[in-house]
Amino acid sequence: MKTTIVTGSTSGIGLGIAESFALAGYNVVLNGLGKGDEIEATRARLASLGAGDVIFHGANMLKPDEITDLVKTAEAKFGSVDVIVPNAGIQHVEKIEDFPPEKWDAIIAINLSSAFHLVRAAMPIMKKQKFGRVVAIASAHGLIASPYKSAYVAAKHGIIGLMKTVALEGAEFGITANAICPGYVETPLVSGQISDTAKARNMTEEQVINEVILKAQPTKQFVTVEQIAAFAMYLASDQAAQITGAALPMDGGWTAQ
Ligand code: NAD
Repeated sequence: MKTTIVTGSTSGIGLGIAESFALAGYNVVLNGLGKGDEIEATRARLASLGAGDVIFHGANMLKPDEITDLVKTAEAKFGSVDVIVPNAGIQHVEKIEDFPPEKWDAIIAINLSSAFHLVRAAMPIMKKQKFGRVVAIASAHGLIASPYKSAYVAAKHGIIGLMKTVALEGAEFGITANAICPGYVETPLVSGQISDTAKARNMTEEQVINEVILKAQPTKQFVTVEQIAAFAMYLASDQAAQITGAALPMDGGWTAQ
């Protein structure tokens, strides 16, 4: 039975990915912030979906030691770490000259450095197994920029570079590393951005959805959590063994423009 770690899986895209892996019978390690009772309810619900076990580890993605412990805990409990999904992320939308340096540091730490710490701890285990899948949730903002998102765009470009390096280092050990680059998905992270962008650009939230967000996506539709989860499952499969070091857009055509 294979084991998957999904960081930031108490909400949004990470939760959807964890759910898909649980349903497919993987052991799953949930991680993220939230209220204890709500997290336990999610854990129990996911555990009831498939044949694998589901545990929660509360590693804060700002703390390298806790991320290392997350990987060690998974290995100790399940005996392997097969798929890691660096997904945890935060956003802050503000003009660069007003962008708080502490927000820059937090976004780089959570959206980029935590993926390094996760891979660093898991790599020896995956090399020994001669199997590993790293599926980072980057963003269309890993490929192109938008104004007012300096830290996020920098972190997401960075995680694509990290995945390319991991792909090369893991290539002869059955390890692949890829970055899924979603367009806009309706999650709590985007709801926050809609209100922040409305303030930054002096628009209503409805105007932001229609004139900023969905304007970027030629399909005029949000990407769904389920679509990303299915893509992550595919990248984790044996059939995807030759896809590695890739930045894979799933953005309704946004980056084709
Ligand atoms: P979300 O806010 O719903 O979920 C973020 C998750 O990260 C939560 O579980 C939260 O608890 C966790 N998290 C935040 N800070 C943490 C910390 N310090 N330690 C541990 N966990 C922490 O957001 P989402 O939209 O599901 O985003 C998930 C990923 O997808 C992010 O990396 C985001 O950049 C990326 N993404 C989102 C979209 C979108 O439109 N929603 C588009 C492209 C990429």
